[in-house]
Amino acid sequence: MKAPVQAPPPADAPAQDALAEVAAQLFVPLGVDGVYARSALYEDIVGRLSAYIDRQREPGAEVLRFPPVMSRAQLERSGYLKSFPNLLGCVCALHGTEAAISAAVQRFEDGGDWTTSLTSADLVLSPAACYPVYPLAAGRGPVPREGLLFDVAADCFRHEPSRALDRLQSFRMREYVRIGAPQDIRAFREQWMQRAQRLAEELALPSRLDVASDPFFGRVGQVMAVSQLQMSLKFELLIPYQPAARPTACMSFNYHMEHFGDVWGLRDAAGQVCHTGCVAFGMDRLAVALFCNHGLRPQGWPAAVRRALSL
Ligand code: AMP
Ligand code: ZN
Repeated sequence: MKAPVQAPPPADAPAQDALAEVAAQLFVPLGVDGVYARSALYEDIVGRLSAYIDRQREPGAEVLRFPPVMSRAQLERSGYLKSFPNLLGCVCALHGTEAAISAAVQRFEDGGDWTTSLTSADLVLSPAACYPVYPLAAGRGPVPREGLLFDVAADCFRHEPSRALDRLQSFRMREYVRIGAPQDIRAFREQWMQRAQRLAEELALPSRLDVASDPFFGRVGQVMAVSQLQMSLKFELLIPYQPAARPTACMSFNYHMEHFGDVWGLRDAAGQVCHTGCVAFGMDRLAVALFCNHGLRPQGWPAAVRRALSL
């Protein structure tokens, strides 16, 4: 039996019905909120969207596709636990002796809790696609004068269970990541903020660019969010799923200043610490935005959208 997938808080009941109808065609619930199997109709559009983003890639970008897990030590060193400890998923395993592992299984067989025997592995579930890039680049020696550009993607996990169509626990993120001199990072981000608005127009998606902050954890986090806003370090491309609905952040444009450069020792040949920035495409949020705005029949989507997605 299919459990219903819920839409974001609705402006009105018919709107909610429409989103529920969209959800039913795109996602099959798997028993945990925010974790879905995806239909062929949906995956076809995600694939076309990926190809569309491929075509925006600048020459010289190095393409890397990451697995859904990454080094726990690297994420710890990146400072993730200071900012978003509540969102992190850590891989755990039964590390004990054969006897200890068998005892855990037996406890489960007897109706008890086997998970108390778990201890953490050296992996976490990647919370964003770009974290592995910085140590990888630092390991290659000095950053060239013109900087570096990467095209990365990963299946990401964030522990934020929800039935809202735009808040998944497991979702796909594509990013262009730039490492280099401060003015180059600012120019990269500025160029992408302009380009993203043109892409939204081409895909006939209503959009608005706004300054934003990350959901930093706790009281100290509130201070971090205010400072991030004041310094305009994050912008988001907001797209409503329905005319009156609160818009969803489908892309983000981030300037980390010297944070990752300092952490990983990313320096140019003259020893200057590099700055970094990334532009993130929320692939699932963008795909859902297309279906919500244009309907469930891609063949009937506006001609410009069909051209852009080679439909
Ligand atoms: P962020 O690192 O928070 O800026 O995330 C980058 C992009 O990933 C966002 O702009 C969203 O499009 C997407 N994203 C973030 N969190 C979620 C989520 N829980 N479900 C689906 N997409 C997400
Ligand atoms: Zn990033």
